[in-house]
Order: sequence, then C-alpha cells, then structure tokens
Amino acid sequence: MQVGIIMESIYCRDCSALLLKKEENALQGRVEIKCRRCGTFNDLRPDEPLENNTKK
Ligand SMILES: [Zn+2]
Repeated sequence: MQVGIIMESIYCRDCSALLLKKEENALQGRVEIKCRRCGTFNDLRPDEPLENNTKK
C-alpha cells in the first residue's frame, strides 16, 4: 500500500458542495471550476487552498 499521498478536498465557496479532490501540489496554475449544484465559479490557486478559507 502506498502511504503519503494526501488528497485535498475542494469545496464550493458558496454552497460547500464537494467539487473535487486533488493531490497536494497538483495545481501548477490557476483553475476555475464551476459548481454543479449552484453554478458558482470557484478559483483555485496553488498557494491558497480553499479548505483553509474562513468566513469573512
Ligand atoms: Zn456551489
């Protein structure tokens, strides 16, 4: 079994629906993903994981 690959869960910033899971450092550039539930576009950036967002 392989150990050490951490899959990061990315959630919609608007409705918190699960958008995708990715390996750490899988993103090398900016990504936009549209939520299937509410249609919000979420910006993903390599150095700003969405799961660390706090409500403003
Ligand atoms: Zn959503």
